Amino acid sequence: MEDFYTIQGEGFYQGHAAYFIRLGGCDVGCVWCDVKESWDVNAHPKISVNDLVKKAKSSGTEIVVITGGEPAMHNLESLTEELHKAGLKTNIETSGAYPLTGNWDWVCLSPKKFKAPHPSVFEKADELKIIVYNKSDFDWAEEHANKVRNTTELFLQPEWSKEKEMVPLIIDYVKANPKWKVTLQIHKYMNIP
Ligand code: SF4
Repeated sequence: MEDFYTIQGEGFYQGHAAYFIRLGGCDVGCVWCDVKESWDVNAHPKISVNDLVKKAKSSGTEIVVITGGEPAMHNLESLTEELHKAGLKTNIETSGAYPLTGNWDWVCLSPKKFKAPHPSVFEKADELKIIVYNKSDFDWAEEHANKVRNTTELFLQPEWSKEKEMVPLIIDYVKANPKWKVTLQIHKYMNIP
């Protein structure tokens, strides 16, 4: 769908320069999705792995973030292999709706209520990022924290349109449950993609 060099705005790699490759196609259907234009897999051009890797490499980045859409809908073996050959780190942001293919240096699992994660993805998650849209999401977050490894980094992120309402709740929750950390979408404050 698009690819660009920017700053990772959220989660464990927040603040790091990263080249983003956003793959088209998603059937998860989050009501608050901010990239609905990604959903139709056929609405986007097909670009070769080599061209994507060349663009990422020439940007000067060390990290490439594969996002979507739901990138795990695609077979990502050749993309991750070629990124590694170019000396780049491979990070993925996934809802976990599909089993993962490819070889990943960092897996950010951000499960969504609209389509449950495939059970195989939990053990691969280096990071669990829960989007907090309402109060009940804290219980839901704990359910998922029980399914990942005990070394997985745990993050709570307010859904952008509910930020003012949810941030105070998240602050209180993290103070009471310090295994969790707060993450905000800082790219939106910086007006960058
Ligand atoms: S998984 Fe991501 S891209 Fe898909 S609908 Fe949800 S927020 Fe949008």
